[in-house]
Amino acid sequence: MSSEKTRAVVIRLADFSESSRVVTWFSDRFGKVATIAKGAKRLKGPFEAALDLLAVCEVVILRKSSSGLDILTEAKLLQRFTPKSGQLAGLYGGYYVAELLDALCEEDDPHPALYEAAEAALSWLSAGADVLLTLSWFELFLLREVGHAPNFETCVACGQPVSDAADVGFQISAGGVFCPGCVEASEPRRLISAGTMAVLNQLTAEGETTWQRLILTARQTRELRGILTPLLIHLLGRRPRTLRYLPL
Ligand SMILES: [Zn+2]
Repeated sequence: MSSEKTRAVVIRLADFSESSRVVTWFSDRFGKVATIAKGAKRLKGPFEAALDLLAVCEVVILRKSSSGLDILTEAKLLQRFTPKSGQLAGLYGGYYVAELLDALCEEDDPHPALYEAAEAALSWLSAGADVLLTLSWFELFLLREVGHAPNFETCVACGQPVSDAADVGFQISAGGVFCPGCVEASEPRRLISAGTMAVLNQLTAEGETTWQRLILTARQTRELRGILTPLLIHLLGRRPRTLRYLPL
């Protein structure tokens, strides 16, 4: 056993016994980690109020070398997830981030950049950022990190670069876009307008936050979600549970 310290966010909580809970974290250093928090349900327990869904904590975890749960020994609350009252979409947006991390990440598979993106998305949602844009940005980041990002740059049929100057086709099963020259052969497909391709370019530009100032047209919203929602359902093999509470 080794004792390890990491920054982490609570992505799932479950009761384990009269006094203990199983806390699943998405952590900076280890990716997804499930821990047992002994005494967590006692009023004056060792973790006080740190163990809320989506709370960011600095934790100390006793890592098991064999199978079995790791043991949470310390959790210091750094940031609670607190969208302003009345901002239900922001609240459910946070739950959606947790659900996707839990469903699409493996235990002990570190993704420090994704950890940073998750913390950023949660703090933007807390501050009242646009829920659809923030979640779309996070979904695209997550898909890249877990190796399921669609190819929006080159035509999946002919390999030519696809500019955002013309309408293109998109097919989930093909893993990306078809250029105007190949689009006829790509049935069944979704059409993506040049404007939506430009939105996708902004949402996937590394280190950029200019997408936060975008105001999408109804068509861009429909086309963007027409790609991302079916893609995530396809990867999860089901509809995300929190999806029905969200403006996606
Ligand atoms: Zn092509």
